[in-house]
Amino acid sequence: MGDKQTKSDVILIGAGIMSATLGALLKELVPGWKITVFEKLPSAGEESSNEWNNAGTGHAALCELNYTSEKKDGSVDISKAIQINEQFQVSMQFWSYLVHNKLLRNPQDFIMPLPHMSLVQGEKNVSFLKKRYEAMSANPLFKGMEYSEDPKKLMEWIPLIMQNRDANEAVAATKIDSGTDVNFGALTRMMFDYLKSKNVDIKYKHSVNNMKRTSDGAWDLKVRNEASGTVEHHTAKFVFIGGGGGSLHLLQKSGIPEGKQMGGFPVSGIFMVCKNPEVVAQHHAKVYGKAKVGAPPMSVPHLDTRFIDNKKSLLFGPFAGFSPKFLKTGSMFDLITSVKPNNLFTMLAAGAKNMSLTKYLIEQVLLSKEKRMEELREFIPNAKIEDWDLVVAGQRVQVIKDTVAGGKGTLQFGTEVVSAADGSIAALLGASPGASTAVSVMLEVLNKCFPQHIKEWEPKLKGMIPSYGESLLGNPALLEEVHATSAQTLRLNRELQPV
Ligand SMILES: Cc1cc2nc3c(=O)[nH]c(=O)nc-3n(C[C@H](O)[C@H](O)[C@H](O)COP(=O)(O)OP(=O)(O)OC[C@H]3O[C@@H](n4cnc5c(N)ncnc54)[C@H](O)[C@@H]3O)c2cc1C
Repeated sequence: MGDKQTKSDVILIGAGIMSATLGALLKELVPGWKITVFEKLPSAGEESSNEWNNAGTGHAALCELNYTSEKKDGSVDISKAIQINEQFQVSMQFWSYLVHNKLLRNPQDFIMPLPHMSLVQGEKNVSFLKKRYEAMSANPLFKGMEYSEDPKKLMEWIPLIMQNRDANEAVAATKIDSGTDVNFGALTRMMFDYLKSKNVDIKYKHSVNNMKRTSDGAWDLKVRNEASGTVEHHTAKFVFIGGGGGSLHLLQKSGIPEGKQMGGFPVSGIFMVCKNPEVVAQHHAKVYGKAKVGAPPMSVPHLDTRFIDNKKSLLFGPFAGFSPKFLKTGSMFDLITSVKPNNLFTMLAAGAKNMSLTKYLIEQVLLSKEKRMEELREFIPNAKIEDWDLVVAGQRVQVIKDTVAGGKGTLQFGTEVVSAADGSIAALLGASPGASTAVSVMLEVLNKCFPQHIKEWEPKLKGMIPSYGESLLGNPALLEEVHATSAQTLRLNRELQPV
């Protein structure tokens, strides 16, 4: 009863990786602030951040071909790959800080070293991959990248993929050993354990249903206690909407002008998981291929070794799909109820522009298991249907907004921090590159929403993230140091790799 009305300095909505990260940054910067978290589910990291709901790739642009494009003159543009790699280094530094200071325990419970590879077939793709390798391997961020077209070398790297392959087919791959597999579910839960130990009030089974401004500029949240069925009111000076797919509806409820003319389009993911330990044992890498023509960038096929619950598994996918739900545990009405008078034309324009994407998604939903096996056999030529099961992954809600470059109703594939002009509320929309870049994205929230504190926080931020405010590419000595420290603290050295 006493909890029916509370006041906090900060309220975080949602117990996923984003709220965990923002909570941890704030706890280290201002330990005295009262932070309250509301999560509608019974525990942390159950939606997109859960290990079975995402691919667990530590996205550092080491293998994802969609982060590098071919320019008109035939050269390869690696600027986006550089940006994503720098963002991942920021995450690694913060995780290292948390481990070094014993705020997170065993790093191998959430991060494992794993080679990242790109694999292509056909002359044209091979020539692209070679140019990409030449551009990337010359850059210190991608040091150690190897390239091969030699079937013998490829057999050493990826035996499962190379066995029974047509010897006349042109195949090439790049490999870099500094890649990672990240169990974002475990990391989220570990971060929430740490927040709890620092007296953050975490209220599970509490759904935020509405919010409004109070006369003193704070936010009053209407929260339903799902266990008791009662409605509570909680206020805070700052609110972060980290509801994953649920963020758009909450942003709309806030009524801030910055959230208008924005919509969301859900894309679901399905993986195939291998249940034959003999097959699992033959693969040790994340191998990313090329997206099919017409496919959205998040459905680039990849064959991944995963480390979940101290066990090695093998996942292939994701197959895209369509469901009108914005969260895996969401409602069939999520898409329709997100259409408001202020975003109606934006949504209609997006619908008209993306007919081919909608068609692609519907075709993907209708794929039979045998059809999915055919796609898998492009990676593992002799894959057997009885060795593989389907698992439904998380929902990604892509942002739709009006942009200068794309016009009305443009579908965005990145993440977007939307904040009120006075910095009292911020929401995170979109899901790519996602959890890997959580720390940079939450630093963006701090910069946008706490400009009055950021200068005084800078020394502490630098202590936690040595490259804070700097480009690692422009500072090779710092890059070396950061790589070495992260690898040692997070135990990513190659000799610790499981065989
Ligand atoms: C198929 C797939 C593959 C992916 N692969 C990768 C990958 O390989 N690497 C990578 O870095 N990222 C990947 N991502 C993206 C990554 O999973 C997400 O970006 C990240 O997990 C989002 O974290 P979040 O905290 O914003 O959301 P979530 O983890 O979804 O958490 C949001 C939480 O908010 C709660 N919530 C929602 N609404 C309310 C409400 N009204 N009241 C209270 N609580 C609420 C939800 O229950 C949920 O627990 C992938 C995503 C998908 C779907």
